[in-house]
Amino acid sequence: MRSLLATTAATVVALVAFAPVTWASGPPTSIGRHGAAATVDRLATQAAIATLRRGGNATDAAVTAAAVLGVTEPFSCGIGGGGFMVSYDARAREVTTSDHRERAPQAMGPDAFFENGVPLAFSDARYSGLSVGVPGTVRGWARALRKHGTISLAEALAPAIRVARRGFVVDETFAAQTQENLDFFDDVPATAALYLDPDGTPRDVGSVFRNPDLARSYELIAHRGARAFYRGAIADAIVQTVRNPPVGPSANHVFRPGVMEPKDLRTYRAPERPPVHSTYRGLDVFGMGPPSSGGSTVAEALNILEGYELGSMTRADALHLELEAARLAFADRGAYVADPDFFDVPLAGLISKDFAATRRALIGETAPTSPVAPGDPYPFDDRAGAAGGEPSVTSTRAGTTTHITVADKRGDIVSYTFTIESTGGSGLVVPGYGFLLNNELTDFNFNSTTHPNRVEGGKRPRSSMAPTIVLRDRRPWLGLGSPGGSTIITTVLGILVDRVDRARTLPAAIAAPRASQRNTPATTAEPAFIASPEAAALVARGHTFAPPPATGGVSEIGAATAVEFLRRHRLLAAAEPVRRGGGSALVVRPAR
Ligand code: GLU
Repeated sequence: MRSLLATTAATVVALVAFAPVTWASGPPTSIGRHGAAATVDRLATQAAIATLRRGGNATDAAVTAAAVLGVTEPFSCGIGGGGFMVSYDARAREVTTSDHRERAPQAMGPDAFFENGVPLAFSDARYSGLSVGVPGTVRGWARALRKHGTISLAEALAPAIRVARRGFVVDETFAAQTQENLDFFDDVPATAALYLDPDGTPRDVGSVFRNPDLARSYELIAHRGARAFYRGAIADAIVQTVRNPPVGPSANHVFRPGVMEPKDLRTYRAPERPPVHSTYRGLDVFGMGPPSSGGSTVAEALNILEGYELGSMTRADALHLELEAARLAFADRGAYVADPDFFDVPLAGLISKDFAATRRALIGETAPTSPVAPGDPYPFDDRAGAAGGEPSVTSTRAGTTTHITVADKRGDIVSYTFTIESTGGSGLVVPGYGFLLNNELTDFNFNSTTHPNRVEGGKRPRSSMAPTIVLRDRRPWLGLGSPGGSTIITTVLGILVDRVDRARTLPAAIAAPRASQRNTPATTAEPAFIASPEAAALVARGHTFAPPPATGGVSEIGAATAVEFLRRHRLLAAAEPVRRGGGSALVVRPAR
């Protein structure tokens, strides 16, 4: 989303406060030194760059930008949700990951989303208190700053508080995202009061949107730290909203109550987890491990593709293999990845080169009928006797979310994806506090009581978020990620293959038309991809394509951001030129 500062007297002050940036919007690509940041939003990227200019590191800048996105991208992310942060520490030469995924309340069981023995329809499950997981974002930010940062949470929140108070100009993406939720937002007075005009329509494009309630929530957190969110007034208001969804008398939908208790918030932790580490053509690829399937599924698909000389093939031939590798990796992801605290994920097997060889052997000249069966990673897992898994059809929902990539002058990288799940989350704004609650618990296989990713109290739903960091010759090379539900995995995979095998530049790889095969009969593909000569060649080999659902008339996959380390200490920051209204990529000292 491209957002502009309110055209008030405050504008001048705010522009000075952020950074002497002269672009009206974007730019989607920048090259320079001393640090780089890319997000979907100009204000967020500027806030990150201003933090780097003041001597902050990549973690400081990422959290600062994230807090701004919580204001300007409220339908995709915020303190009502959760996320995953992958960080490279150049001094320690170490990659760490933070899991601040939402957790199910303790009182939930596998049949939480069943009524009369039948699972709820997605929309009934989503717009409810039931779908709300205990938010992890605030704990994640606090922990990231404590472990890797140099500034306080209060300092990181300050630019976002200014944006929330002064406002920003509503653009078409913001209005379209409201429009798609209108029929539910207007059921909830707190949500309608914040996001709708008095006549019940979305905020007008070009009008100034302010969120003083969110500014106050941020101030409470700035003042008292993360505990201001997990205990006391904010926590109580969250629990109240979940247990008694505050719908108005004229609501035309039922918002089912959830079972969250204050203790669920008090006991929320954001653990550090080992990164998923794999190699691809000599590069070291680090991703997010379970409960996200992002790292292992990207790694498995790359392992399958490593057996081919993609660079010397026609583009259509290489794309066939890329789609098939993704199909197989998704079959395995669907069967074996869940919260590792509840299910013994055969992670080593899933990312082993030998397991990939067994999967590669299944790829033929034509596309098979999906869903294809999962493989058996257990023999490759070094743990005798382990077994489990259950095939499941991949959800084809391509949701929202947002991704931030930052690098600093020391060579640290932060690759951070965070979300409230669907665009607009559960539709429930916490009255008086200005933020939407997530619907992350619909990422469980909530229609199954046996699947490894079934609902269980205290468990985190499986994710597709794939914040990724790539080292070349043990030095930082690339940080990248994307929103887009389960298409996140194929977007990250596609950018890596384009960059590494097809020698495309990073901006070209990000802009390229996308196709996403997730073990479904038809491959989801953008209209520009479907119209390409490669797609015609793939159809001749048995592939079928269908566009993703449109938002505001736009049918697109992902909204990636990335940073690449170039030669001579230069950095390339890259964001989408068009998707989601275009992103913003900036550097601390632009190259002349
Ligand atoms: N809930 C999704 C996941 O964790 C991300 C949200 C989305 O982009 O749909 O995989």
